[in-house]
Amino acid sequence: MAQSAKRDYYEVLGVPRNASQEDIKKAYRRLARKYHPDFNKEPDAQEKFKEINEAYQVLSDPEKRKLYDRYGHAAFTAQAGGAYQEAVYQNVGDLFEEFLRGFGFEDIFQRATRGRRRERRPIKGEDIHQTVELTLEEAFGGAVVSLPLVREVTCEACKGLGYDVSKGERVCPTCGGRGEVVQRQFFMTIAQTCPTCGGEGVIREPCPKCRGRGAVAQREEVKVKIPRGVDTGSRIMVEGKGHAGRFGGPPGDLIITVKVKPHPLFERRGNNLYLDVNLKLTEAVLGTEIEVPKLEGGKLKVEVPPGTQEGDTLRVEGHGMPRLMSEGRGDLFVRVHIEVPKLGFLEKLFGDGRRLKHLLEELDKLLPEPKRVRERQP
Ligand SMILES: [Zn+2]
Ligand SMILES: [Zn+2]
Repeated sequence: MAQSAKRDYYEVLGVPRNASQEDIKKAYRRLARKYHPDFNKEPDAQEKFKEINEAYQVLSDPEKRKLYDRYGHAAFTAQAGGAYQEAVYQNVGDLFEEFLRGFGFEDIFQRATRGRRRERRPIKGEDIHQTVELTLEEAFGGAVVSLPLVREVTCEACKGLGYDVSKGERVCPTCGGRGEVVQRQFFMTIAQTCPTCGGEGVIREPCPKCRGRGAVAQREEVKVKIPRGVDTGSRIMVEGKGHAGRFGGPPGDLIITVKVKPHPLFERRGNNLYLDVNLKLTEAVLGTEIEVPKLEGGKLKVEVPPGTQEGDTLRVEGHGMPRLMSEGRGDLFVRVHIEVPKLGFLEKLFGDGRRLKHLLEELDKLLPEPKRVRERQP
C-alpha cells in the first residue's frame, strides 16, 4: 500500500473525528468481523482487514490518537515509522484477543490467558520498599526507627469494594444481568460481552470517597525494631504494613533495606571490626599495653608484644560486631603502625632533639645489620 494512498483512519473505521473510545471499539469489532479473511472470501478482504487493524491500533491508543490527530499519517511514517511498525506486529496477539472477544469467545479466551479478566479474586497488596540508614553504633546495639509512610489502606466507606454501598447494585439494563448481549448477523449468532457493565451483569456507582479504587492513601508513622548486628544489604520485613489488598486480599508487606554508614574509626568486615593504632618505635621494640576505644563506648586494654612489626594485626576475640539473630560476637583486629620520629634542623642542634639524635646514633651502632633486600612473600 503506497503511503500517498493511505486512507484516513477515521474514514477506515467509519467514525467521526470526535468518536468516543467505545464507539471506535464497536466500529472496529463490526468491521473486523466483516472483513476477517477466514469469513470473507472477497479478494480485497485481507487488505481491508489489515487496514482496519492498523487504524484501530492508532485510534484505540489515546497517545497515538493524539499524535495522529495532529500530524496525520506523518506521525507514524517519518521518524516514528520503524517503531510503529514493530508495535503493530507485536500487538498481533492483542488483535486476535480483541477479535475473539468480539465473537463472544470471552470464556475460551479467559481460560487461555490465565483468567486475568473481570474475576474479582483476592489480590495481595503491593509491598512498600524503604531504605534505612544507620550508624555503625546503631547496627551494633539495634535500634527502633520511625518511618513516615504513605500507605494505601482499605477505603472504610466501601470496605474496599469500590462501589457506593449505600446505593447498592442494580441489574444491568442492557444485558439483563447475563453479562453478554446476543446479536444476529446473517446466519451467525454472536454473543458479545455487554458494553454497559463490562460483563459483570450489574451496574454499581463508584464509591465517592475512593472513586472506585477501594483504597485511599494515608500518611502513617511506622515504628520498626532493627535487630543487633544488621549490615548493609540486610532486609527486614514488617508483615502487613504494605499497601492494602484488593477484593479482600491481604495487605502487602513493608520491606526495609539497611544501609550502614561508614564509621570514622572502625572498619567493618562481616562480624569483625578493624581499628588502626600508632605505636612509638620503642613501644614496638619493647612491647607495651595500650588502650583503644570500644565501639559501644569505654576503653579496652590491648597487649602489644615486644618486637611488634609495622602492619601487624593484634586480634582481640569477642570484641567485634554482634552476630545477627544469634549468640556471640565477632573479633576486633587492631592494626599496628609504627611512627618514626622526624627531627627538624633546629631540633637536631638543641635540647632534647640533640640528645635524641645522639642516642639514636649510638643505637644505630648496636642494631644488627638487616638483610637489605626482602624476598617476596609467596
Ligand atoms: Zn471506597
Ligand atoms: Zn450488562
